[in-house]
Amino acid sequence: MATLDMKGPFALNDATIDKIILKESAGNYALGQTNDKDVFIVSYVGRSDSDVKQRLKHWAKNSKRPMFKYSYATSPKTAFEKECKNYHDFDEPADNDIHPDKPDNSSWSCPVCSC
Ligand SMILES: [Zn+2]
Repeated sequence: MATLDMKGPFALNDATIDKIILKESAGNYALGQTNDKDVFIVSYVGRSDSDVKQRLKHWAKNSKRPMFKYSYATSPKTAFEKECKNYHDFDEPADNDIHPDKPDNSSWSCPVCSC
C-alpha cells in the first residue's frame, strides 16, 4: 500500500502549523481529510524548496481541505523526488492539476515516470 511517509494528519490552520513545524526547512506536504475509518484521504501533494511552514500557511488560507501531513526534506532535490513519488503513488491526487514541476534552474527528472 502506498504511504506518504509524513507526520500527521494535523488540522490545517495557522495555530497548529506554528505549534507543529518549528524549523525553516524544505519539505513535503499533503492536503486532505480523514474518512470515517480514520484513514487520511490525499487530495493534494506538494513541496516547498525552502520553507514548508510558510507554504502550509498559504494553504491554510486558500484550501478547502481541513487536514495536512508533512515531512522535512534534506534538500530541494529530495523534496522534488518525494513529491513525484507521492504524486504517482496516490494516482495524481484530485487537486493536483499538473505533474510536479522541477525548479527552473535544475535538470532533474521525475524518478518514477522520467517525464
Ligand atoms: Zn512523474
